[in-house]
Amino acid sequence: MSPTHETMRELSGLYVLGALAPADLAEFEAHLASCEICRTEVSALRPVAAALPGTVAQVEPPALLRGRVLEAVTGQSTSSHARSRPAAAPIAPWLAAAALLAAAALGGYAVQLRGRITNLEDQLEQAIARVSLADQQVADARRTALDAQFQVAVLAAPDLLRIDLAGLPPAPAASARAFWSRSRGMVFTASSLPALMPGRVYQLWVIPDQGDPISVGLLEPDSSGTLTRVFQTPADIPPPMAVAVSEEPAGGVPLPTGQLYMAGKPV
Ligand SMILES: [Zn+2]
Repeated sequence: MSPTHETMRELSGLYVLGALAPADLAEFEAHLASCEICRTEVSALRPVAAALPGTVAQVEPPALLRGRVLEAVTGQSTSSHARSRPAAAPIAPWLAAAALLAAAALGGYAVQLRGRITNLEDQLEQAIARVSLADQQVADARRTALDAQFQVAVLAAPDLLRIDLAGLPPAPAASARAFWSRSRGMVFTASSLPALMPGRVYQLWVIPDQGDPISVGLLEPDSSGTLTRVFQTPADIPPPMAVAVSEEPAGGVPLPTGQLYMAGKPV
């Protein structure tokens, strides 16, 4: 990259506005021929600059300035006042206008660029969402397939036990059925479980003939109060005297503490 690139790049706004002084213009165009970055910037700025005359009042270089430029080029005086007036005063308004136009062009370019970046970010976000949705669907499908295999294994178990659960006073309409195999686990299906307050969960228990209830797991019914789930149960679990569902704090508890919602004995 040429050492003058940064300097030249700052002129690209003025260049597309046709506002560069002849000496700068020659230098800039020479640089442009060898600098891809500046060429890209210029072609990005052109449409913005082209849109500007419609929105920004055109400023004609004052006659005095035109005269001074012509004089410099041709070596002939076109105005008797040219040399008798200070240069700064008449040039300043035109330069200020050009600087304004350049700033507007760069501002427009920045807006355009920001728009392009936002658009790309949106596309990236959508692509990521699609990928993780696909991942999620694969994981869901795999889990569903495993659950189905597990359910079939439980339901085909030679030591299968069926337990029908009926709703208790907090949930009179609720009902559930548990299929339990000591060797393979439990399939639990429930319906009409009422929605719980935030921070509360349903917990499923096996109540053995002797000793404390054993937690099978937490139940997360859908919005209609329905669920079907498979649970691994400890191999040394004693045959259940009963199966029950209680309401407990989120995360579950080692021993039931809350109200019972459903209970039933093996048929
Ligand atoms: Zn450059």
